[in-house]
Amino acid sequence: MLSAKAAERLRAIPNLTILFHEPLAPYTRFALGGPAAVFCDTHNAGAFAEALHLVNTLTLPHLVIGGGTNLVVSDDGYEGIVLRFRGKRMIENGTVLCVEAGVMLQDVVDRSIALGLAGMESMTGIPGYLGGAVYGNAGAYGRSMQELVEHVRFTDGERIRTFNNEECQFRYRESIFKDHKGWIVLSADLRFTPGDPEALAKTAGEIRAIRDAKYPPTMKCAGSIFKNVFFADLPASVGAQVPAKLVREGKVPSAWFLEEAGVKGMTRGDIHVATYHANLIYNGGNGRAADLVALIEEAKRRVRERFGFDLQEDVQYVGFEYAETPA
Ligand SMILES: Cc1cc2nc3c(=O)[nH]c(=O)nc-3n(C[C@H](O)[C@H](O)[C@H](O)COP(=O)(O)OP(=O)(O)OC[C@H]3O[C@@H](n4cnc5c(N)ncnc54)[C@H](O)[C@@H]3O)c2cc1C
Repeated sequence: MLSAKAAERLRAIPNLTILFHEPLAPYTRFALGGPAAVFCDTHNAGAFAEALHLVNTLTLPHLVIGGGTNLVVSDDGYEGIVLRFRGKRMIENGTVLCVEAGVMLQDVVDRSIALGLAGMESMTGIPGYLGGAVYGNAGAYGRSMQELVEHVRFTDGERIRTFNNEECQFRYRESIFKDHKGWIVLSADLRFTPGDPEALAKTAGEIRAIRDAKYPPTMKCAGSIFKNVFFADLPASVGAQVPAKLVREGKVPSAWFLEEAGVKGMTRGDIHVATYHANLIYNGGNGRAADLVALIEEAKRRVRERFGFDLQEDVQYVGFEYAETPA
């Protein structure tokens, strides 16, 4: 896949770690999946940009990952180059934090709270990096990245560009970066409002306790497998069955449809649907991606049969035929 000459050029990039046939499971929260043909890792923004530029110039198949908390990697792995950027710079400028894509989202939450900056406290406990959070417009408890992002710096493979909030085209768990897989987030400016650190920490602490009970920190999972469903998009006959109290911010939890379809507690190999939450699937420790994908398919099939529509995955597939590649 990678010619000796291309490998030599990658190796010549300072501050870039290059590993061949590197198992991807340890880089994902699901802890499953096969190896990447090549794995490039760096803390250095220049090295990351140079590596990305090279793989783009040579039109090599590649994929950028962050914390790997929303990935389902095929048991066969990924026949391409996986790049990970772990740049950790976070610069304060009044109520704005300029954050590199490789910063853990929780570190941004913690720093903002310590600085008395309100806006992210309810996003405590969302794992992964800032870059992945911008890509998927991550959010929880009524807040999402789109309310914080002022600017995003990204590379389109040729040059570094900056988008303002509107240009990022944020929607529920969507952004323009999801539509253009080759556009890679390098950093973002996040704008907060002044707040009281103690009150912010209290809110975050309460939410964290709820989240840790639902997603124990050692659980091998991706949070929710499926996106919630816009009530307005449901066929009228289905909407009529949904208890009104479940509709929040115009959306119905996909867990409700899954539970109604009897998905809770389903098991395949060592992959399990939680007995307390139908939209939570986890790896018991010896799971295989094939079983996970089969379980997801079975869950979708049951919802389709019961309600006549397809749930949409929130997780991103890597190394499967139908996985999307950079464009
Ligand atoms: C226990 C648990 C709870 C969760 N709870 C929530 C929640 O409450 N709300 C929520 O929204 N999500 C939640 N998630 C899902 C996940 O944490 C988020 O989607 C997170 O933002 C993914 O970030 P990541 O760095 O891990 O991305 P990864 O999983 O590494 O990648 C996800 C996608 O982002 C792309 N990507 C990564 N970095 C970049 C970049 N720099 N530029 C462009 N594209 C990039 C990748 O190519 C991939 O397609 C949860 C996950 C877990 C495991």
